[in-house]
Amino acid sequence: MKKLDIPVRIDGVELTPENKCGFCTNSKCCHYVTQSIDAPRSKHDFEHLLWQVSHGNVQAYKDSDGWCLLFETSCTHLLPDGKCGIYEARPEICREHSNDYCEFDAPAEEGFDLHFKDYQSLLKYCKKRFPRWERG
Ligand code: SF4
Ligand code: SF4
Repeated sequence: MKKLDIPVRIDGVELTPENKCGFCTNSKCCHYVTQSIDAPRSKHDFEHLLWQVSHGNVQAYKDSDGWCLLFETSCTHLLPDGKCGIYEARPEICREHSNDYCEFDAPAEEGFDLHFKDYQSLLKYCKKRFPRWERG
């Protein structure tokens, strides 16, 4: 992860790792789940992915780590004030998530090579990747 090179200030307060999350309205990193998947290669693989992204709030992307499903859904432990309701017992992945350069600084999709937000965007990609897509 890239570090911020210059100090960032909000309302005159310099952001530090300790106070940064307090400025992050509604805790941006608590509103999605990702799951890595095998890279789709065959038409059959993409047909399967098309089915998955046909569902609400399910997307797919590829970045330097490979392919992932992205579920836009809020954590049920997130409190109305943006704090974690199970902070002391929060899962390991939450403990390991660094706020050094995170969703607060730039949308995660800026690092995506491919991003399919819905069925139509993936179908368009499939037709380009498989010239005979329509012919079965
Ligand atoms: S880690 Fe980043 S995205 Fe998550 S709450 Fe803190 S500042 Fe917001
Ligand atoms: S468990 Fe807490 S830190 Fe982890 S995603 Fe849920 S609200 Fe956020």
